[in-house]
This record gives sequence, C-alpha cells and structure tokens, in this order.
Amino acid sequence: MSVLVVGTVAFDSIETPFGSAERILGGSASYFALGASFFAPVRVVGVIGEDFPQDYLDLFAQRKIDTDGVERAAGDTFHWRGRYHEDINVRDTVELHLNVLAGFEPKLPDPYRDAEYVFLGNIDPLMQMEVLDQLRRVRLVACDTMDHWIRTSNDALKKVLRRIEMLVINDSEARLLSGYDNIVKAAREILKMGPRMVLIKRGEYGVLQFSDSSIFATPAYPLEQVFDPTGAGDSFAGGLMGHLARSGDRSQGGLRRAIVYGSVVASFTVEDFGVKRLAGVSLEEIEERYRQFVELTDFHS
Ligand code: AMP
Repeated sequence: MSVLVVGTVAFDSIETPFGSAERILGGSASYFALGASFFAPVRVVGVIGEDFPQDYLDLFAQRKIDTDGVERAAGDTFHWRGRYHEDINVRDTVELHLNVLAGFEPKLPDPYRDAEYVFLGNIDPLMQMEVLDQLRRVRLVACDTMDHWIRTSNDALKKVLRRIEMLVINDSEARLLSGYDNIVKAAREILKMGPRMVLIKRGEYGVLQFSDSSIFATPAYPLEQVFDPTGAGDSFAGGLMGHLARSGDRSQGGLRRAIVYGSVVASFTVEDFGVKRLAGVSLEEIEERYRQFVELTDFHS
C-alpha cells in the first residue's frame, strides 16, 4: 500500500551548535518521503523551482520515491533558514522564502488520486485542502502544521482539521493552536476540532498520543549526540505512516508499534546534518534499533 505526501521540497540553511550547512535538501515532504520509503512506496506532491538540482531528485529515485507529482515551476525553490540554540530543542526561523510555493496549486496525477494513506505535510492549509478534494478513496489522512500556518491561515487550517483523522504536531504548536499551556488540555481541545487522534511531538522527550479513550507515551531514543534536529518531526511521521501502510494494522497495538517505528526513524535523522544519515540508513539498522527500543521501554506491571 503506497503513501502519498504533500509538503515542501526545499533548500534548508541550518546552523546548530555543532556546525552549519547552506542550501541543502530539506522540506517537510522530503523528510517524510525518505522516512516512509523504508516501509512502503511513496508518492510526493509538491513544487520545486528551476534551481533545484537533479542530484536531489536522483536521491529520491534511489529510494524508489515517486516524484511525478512534483511540479517544476519558474522561479526559485522554497528556502528556509533556521538557527538552533545551545538548547537544541529551541530553534528560530531566520528566513522563510516561499518562492515557487506562493500560489502553488497542487494537481495530483490521476493514479495518485486513489491513494489510501495520505499525509498532509507542513504546507499552506489551503494546499492541503486542495489535495484532500482530489482524493477518491482515502482510508487514513494525517496532517502536520506549524506556527507560521497557525498564525497566518488559521481558518483554512480549522477546516482541514475537520476532515482528517490524525494530527501530528509539536508541543509549542499544540499550545498555540489550542490556547492552552497544559499539554493534556491542549490535546483535548484539539480533539474537539475534528481529528480522532492527536500525536504531540516533544523533541528529545518523545511523543504523546491522545484519543478520546486513551493516552500513550513513548520516549525518544536516547542519543549521546544530536547534530541537527531538522526533519525529526517529518521523518517521524514518515516512519509512522509508512509502517501503517505496510502493516495495515490500525488496532491500538498496531498504532503504538507505528509510533515507535516513527521514533526510530527520527532518531537516525538527527544524527547528522540534513538528510545525510536518514538517506544512508538501512532497514536492518532500523529494525535493530526498534528491538533496542522495545527493550528500553519494557515494563512488566
Ligand atoms: P521539522 O524539523 O520536522 O519540523 O521540519 C523542518 C522542515 O520544515 C525543514 O526542512 C523546512 O524546509 C520545512 N519548513 C520550514 N518552515 C516551513 C513552512 N512554513 N512550511 C512548510 N515547511 C516548512
């Protein structure tokens, strides 16, 4: 079962306490697609500019990621510049150039319209909605967003939330969206906005999953060195959705296993700059770290 993602395909310029990188491959759809590609075929909907290098498209092709839905438009590619603090959980957006993303109207190639597992990655909610409108037989829609869209496109985002099953969001965004500081209250408030499930990403502290009837908590895989947290959230969602598409198991246990696979994928992403580690890791390494994760959290009551 394949997974469809819409999101940004970007140039990122990143500064962390451990180094910096200029105009490397980034974007919510890129990280998601690479993360999901270990488990299921992936199709990407997005837009790139004339300056986007063929090497990056080749990298997607090597991981068998279908980029037929990535449009090349006149102009420059979306560019994000971010700086991380000494406390690597905190980052500032220093520059955000939408470039070809401004005014992008996603058009799904016909076979994409039958996608059953769909991730509305971090992008303008109006574009997320346009993708939703083109789907014929979707089974699971998950969605991400960020402070920029919560502030600038709130009404459209609320409409998207009424049509999705799962929201994957980080803790500060959950607070901003809900108006509550307490994370449990924030999750409950977001559940009232539409999604059946909210997954709250808390960086090195892990993930909390909320539904009306349950709460599930997992830590992040403990690492001695985090070089660059960029893309952790998107590759987490990629691992999660990819695993769900592979297993088809939507039981509570199946969802929990998918959350742990997502956490494992994210733990590789942050071990190097950009997509370097994520693009080079093997499925065997992922499975081995998954087993370590199970041991790490083994608890007999
Ligand atoms: P993450 O670290 O998982 O939250 O996602 C980081 C990625 O989001 C980077 O690769 C950026 O290119 C991308 N990004 C940053 N700002 C935005 C935005 N406003 N809309 C969509 N993608 C963004």
